[in-house]
Amino acid sequence: MSDIEFEKIYRDEDVDLSVLDGKTVAIIGYGSQGRAQSMNMRESGVKIIVGAGDRTRHSSWDKAEADGFAVYSIEEAVDKADIVHILLQDPAQPSVYYESIHKHLRPGQTLSFAHGFAILYGTIKPPKDVDVVLFVPNGPGPVTRQKYKDGSGIWGCVSVDQDVSGQAKETALAISKAVGSTRVGVVDMTFQHETEGDNYEEQVLYGGTIHLMRTMFNIMVKNGYPRSFAYAKAIRSIRSIIDDIDAVGIESYLTSRASRTCEFAVRHSGPRVINEQAMEEIFEETERGVFARNWLQEFSLGMPTLNRMRRTWADSDMEKTGKIWREKFGK
Ligand code: NAP
Ligand code: MG
Repeated sequence: MSDIEFEKIYRDEDVDLSVLDGKTVAIIGYGSQGRAQSMNMRESGVKIIVGAGDRTRHSSWDKAEADGFAVYSIEEAVDKADIVHILLQDPAQPSVYYESIHKHLRPGQTLSFAHGFAILYGTIKPPKDVDVVLFVPNGPGPVTRQKYKDGSGIWGCVSVDQDVSGQAKETALAISKAVGSTRVGVVDMTFQHETEGDNYEEQVLYGGTIHLMRTMFNIMVKNGYPRSFAYAKAIRSIRSIIDDIDAVGIESYLTSRASRTCEFAVRHSGPRVINEQAMEEIFEETERGVFARNWLQEFSLGMPTLNRMRRTWADSDMEKTGKIWREKFGK
C-alpha cells in the first residue's frame, strides 16, 4: 500500500500550544460542541470564557455557568476575547454574527468556526483585518469530550480562510491540540471540502443508512415478520459489525469475521441496494449550493418540513417498536 500518499498529519509533537498563552478564547454557543470543546480546552490550560444569548430565552448561559465557566453576553465575550470560536448551530450563525459579533471584532482577533458553511456560502463576511480559521473535530460533542477524558481524541481537520497575523494556521492547530484532536491526528482541509464533504456525508451516509433501516423494517413487518425481530435486524445488527469493520477493514471483516453466507450476500446483493445515480446527483447538488440554499430556506421559514417529518416519524410503527425493544433488550 506504499503507493498511496497521505496528506500531512499533525500530532501533539507538531503543534505548539503556547501560541494560546495569555490569550482568551470566547466560546460562542454552548451546545453539543460548545460544552465539549470548552471543557477540553480548559483542561488543556487554555483560558475560556463563554458567550451566550439572553438567559431568559437561551439555556446555554445557565449550563455554562453550572459547569464553572465565566459567562457573558455574546457582545461582551467578543470584546474580552482574542479568539472568537463560533459554536452556534449553523443556520443561526449569520443573524447572531451580525447582531452581536461583527461590530465588536477588532483587528488582530481570530474568528474561528467548527464548520465552513457560513464562510463558504458567504452568509458571514468577516472584516479583512481578522484571521479566519476552521477546526473541526469529526464527531459529536459528547464523544469529543469522552475521548479526551479517556486520554484520546477525535481526528480533526483545520483550515485557514484569512491569515492576517501570519499565525492563523498555528492558532487553528493549537485549538485542535487543546481539544485533544492532535492526540489522534489532524489534517489540512479546505473550507469547501470540509463543508460540502460534511453535508454530503450527512445526506448520503446518514440519510441513506437511516432510510435503509426504515425501509427494511417496513418491508419485513409488511411481510409478516414480528416487529421485534425486524427491528433488531434493521438497527441493532449494524452496531455489531460497524466497529469491527472500522477496526480491521471491510475485506478482513468479510473474509475472516463474517460467515461465508454473509460474505456472499454482501457481494451478491449489496450493490443493487445502492442508487449510484442518485448519489451522484446529490453530490452535484451539494457542489452547486442547492443543498445549502434549501436548508437555509427551510430554516428561515421556521423549519416546516422538519417539524412535519418529526411528527410523522415520532409516531411511526418503527419508533414505537424501538421504544419497547430498548426496554426489553437494553440499550
Ligand atoms: P448545537 O448543539 O445545536 O448548539 C447550538 C448552540 O447555539 C446552543 O448553545 C444554542 O444556545 C446556541 N444558539 C442557537 N441559536 C442561538 C441564538 N439565536 N442566540 C444565541 N445562541 C444561540 O450545535 P452544535 O452541534 O454544537 O454545532 C455547533 C457547530 O459545530 C456547528 O457549526 C456545527 O456544524 C459544528 N459541528 C458539530 C458537530 C456535531 O456533531 N454536533 C460536529 C462537528 C462540527 P441555546 O441552546 O441556549 O439556545
Ligand atoms: Mg455537520
